[in-house]
Order: sequence, then structure tokens, then C-alpha cells
Amino acid sequence: MNCSKEGETKYSRVLLKLSGNLFGDADNRGISLDAFLKIAESIAKIKKENDIQLAIVLGGGNIFRGREFQKEEFDSVTADTMGMLGTIMNGLALQEVLEKMGIPSRMMTAIYMRSVAEFYIKKRAAHHLETGRVVIFTGGIGNPFFTTDSAAALRACELDCDLILKATDVDGVYDKDPKKYKNEAKFFEKITYKEVIEKNLKVMDVAAFALARKKNIPIIVFNEKYLDRIFEVLKGGKIGTLVN
Ligand code: UDP
Repeated sequence: MNCSKEGETKYSRVLLKLSGNLFGDADNRGISLDAFLKIAESIAKIKKENDIQLAIVLGGGNIFRGREFQKEEFDSVTADTMGMLGTIMNGLALQEVLEKMGIPSRMMTAIYMRSVAEFYIKKRAAHHLETGRVVIFTGGIGNPFFTTDSAAALRACELDCDLILKATDVDGVYDKDPKKYKNEAKFFEKITYKEVIEKNLKVMDVAAFALARKKNIPIIVFNEKYLDRIFEVLKGGKIGTLVN
């Protein structure tokens, strides 16, 4: 699938993981319509300029993260369920702005919510992708104690995606936190799954890397500010870090 002529998109089915902080206000919290509009414009551009099927997994950190609410008097399963519901709010908003921009999309949830969205079924999701719809996966994997990074890798494996794009707030994978160790942190243009797992580099969950490795799906970790230009990567350009 990954063979292409120069200038042509190298990939056919791509999974984009967008963290919740992309949709928040200046402090990365809550829901900012401007943030949704900006991201929807980038997605519309990716879809229009590339002949690809696009699946998106949404985080919910702008609304609630279970791990930030680990208190003795509060059940962590309830906290994670609240986190999963946050991703569904993001999904509704993204679907809404995409549709307004004329980009057909379908939100699916991993939690049964009949009057809100379709429940995730692999074959249904594949059908939507084949008909050109952007499919937005919400609710993570539908179970507590996981994150939406794991959901991204899982859906990519199930749906035979040939690339995972992980948007984050730094330029890619470093040997240490580049925000804390500005001058010391070493940037990797390329790194293997084995190395990121062994070195416990925190850019995505270990479970997500392990799953992607199982099906050999390359992951590109890139700065969210380049979301607009991410289509260059789809045509073989270099942005961020390639994990494979
Ligand atoms: N979550 C969960 N199971 C999943 C995915 C997510 O329990 O399969 C919960 C968990 O509490 C998590 C929250 O939903 O903190 C939001 O997801 P995540 O932290 O991955 O969002 P992001 O950091 O990407 O915005």
C-alpha cells in the first residue's frame, strides 16, 4: 500500500489522534469554538488535497482526565468514565463544525449511546471510511484504565490503517521532556517502537506503541501547529518523528 509516485499520497487509510488540549482555551481547558473551527479547517484541507480515508480518535483532556482525579474517596472507574464522556462532547463539536464545512463525517462511540451516535462496529466504521466520510471515534476503547492513545492504536490495528498521526504540543519524540530540558533534550527524527518502549519515552502510552508494533503501523508524532501542513507527510515529506 505504501508505494507511490512522486507527489502522490503514500497512504490510503490514515488515523489521526487529536488530544483534547487542542480544543480548549488558552489554558487548554474547556471547549473553544475557535479551536474547533481551526482544526476542522485543517481536516477539511487534508481531506480535499489527499485521496485518503481519514479516521480520527479524539482525546478529552480539555474536559476531564480520570488520572487527575485519583482520590481515595472517588472511584477511579467513575473518573475514567467521566473522561470517556468528555471525548464524546469533543466528538459532537468536531462533527458539527466539519459538517458545516461540507465535510461528511460520522461520529462513533465506544460507549452505547443510542440517541447520540452510532456504536462502534468495525465493519460499519470501515464502510463509512470507504464512502469518504471522516470517521470520528470517541469514548476511547470504552473501558476505564486506558487512554485515547491506546484507542488510536487499537482502531488503527482493527481497521488496517497504514499510518497513525499523533498530534502533540512538542515537535516529536525527544530523549527527555523538551519543555523541562530545553537545551539538553535530544530530538529523534526516527526511532524504533522497541526503543521508545524500552526507554519509556512518554510521548504516547506504551500500550499504544506495543499495539502499533504488532501490526507494523508507522506512527508520526508531530507538533499540532503543523496540522495544516501534515498533508506534506502524507506525500512523503518530513515533519516530526517517525516511529516504526
Ligand atoms: N479514558 C478511559 N478509557 C479509554 C480512553 C479514555 O477511561 O479508553 C478516560 C481517561 O480517564 C482519560 C480520559 O478518558 O484520562 C480522556 O482521555 P485522554 O486522557 O486519553 O485524552 P487526551 O489526553 O488525549 O486529551
